[in-house]
Amino acid sequence: MKYIDEFRNKKITRYISGKIQETVKGYNDRITLMEVCGTHTTAIFRAGIKSLLSDKINLLSGPGCPVCVTPNHYLDRAIAYSRLPDIIITTFGDMIKVPGSSSSLEGEKGTGGDIRVVYSPLDSIKIAEENTDKRIIFLGVGFETTAPLVASTITTTKKEGLSNLFILCGHKLIPPAMMALLESEEVNIDGFICPGHVSTIIGAEPYLPVVEKYKVPSVITGFEPVDILEGILMLIIQIINEDKPEIEIQYKRAVKEEGNRKALQLMDNVFRIGDSEWRGMGVIPKSGLFIQDKYSGFDAEKNIEVEVEETKEHPECICGEILRGVKTPPMCSLFKKLCTPDNPIGPCMVSSEGTCAAYYHYGVV
Ligand code: SF4
Repeated sequence: MKYIDEFRNKKITRYISGKIQETVKGYNDRITLMEVCGTHTTAIFRAGIKSLLSDKINLLSGPGCPVCVTPNHYLDRAIAYSRLPDIIITTFGDMIKVPGSSSSLEGEKGTGGDIRVVYSPLDSIKIAEENTDKRIIFLGVGFETTAPLVASTITTTKKEGLSNLFILCGHKLIPPAMMALLESEEVNIDGFICPGHVSTIIGAEPYLPVVEKYKVPSVITGFEPVDILEGILMLIIQIINEDKPEIEIQYKRAVKEEGNRKALQLMDNVFRIGDSEWRGMGVIPKSGLFIQDKYSGFDAEKNIEVEVEETKEHPECICGEILRGVKTPPMCSLFKKLCTPDNPIGPCMVSSEGTCAAYYHYGVV
């Protein structure tokens, strides 16, 4: 298939859905698959994928929404920076509405904070050039997909000799979070629908421990309905046949086995890997990217001091459990009542990739 319409073709989706039903017929156990990535969660809801599956297949949403897994203390630091008089915060739009412990960037903007939404971290360079009397802090939040762009922003800024652009680095890596979920044994996961975008950068190799050590079949999957259903079928075939668990690539039109070497080199040059805290999941070993010492002049935390308030979270928000696949949004007492996209209490309701937002917009299937 070459054209995007073919990946949305109803006849093909019905055909694969039929194949899935046929394959699970006679299989007694319920199969739980986790879609790790928030973009998959939204795509699954938007296309009504759950209604095309057998009752025997349970889809769980995982921790792959970058805004959602960013802990409150990161947000609180960003908010504290935005209150300093000579600071401009640049960020992707999703971060603006996420509630921190007692405020949000949107709230700070309303009271005079200079907070600007950018479409690429590279846009921050222009803002730094135009505002040499200010310090610009870009909020570096995201997974392996955005990290190369931030690495490139740092190297470009260095080349241009700019000294007023900093990164508040909160980048995270997906495969260690998948392994942390399996290690915790809180939820039974029979197979992973692995993130397509992240895998365009990292390729298939970083998932090998998931299939080799934890024996959980995994398929790197695209985002159109045909992609998702095909990825599910590939997983089910591995599970039912009890084949040796493998990492397979369904999303071959975008993902290469070896990933994107150039982007990986860029990341290696700028970042080091370290332990990182995830919302609801605690500190996960080797799951975060930190700016290497040779680029420490761009590290906001190392160069700009600020007092950060003590972290608080809404006691009834269960985002952490939702991100671990332990609970679903309707189990939250605030869902659709106090917590809505216009008045989000937790990040999972803010982000376009958040599970609570997906349940809110598309309903419970
Ligand atoms: Fe948190 Fe709102 Fe989701 Fe409840 S519905 S878990 S309060 S984001």
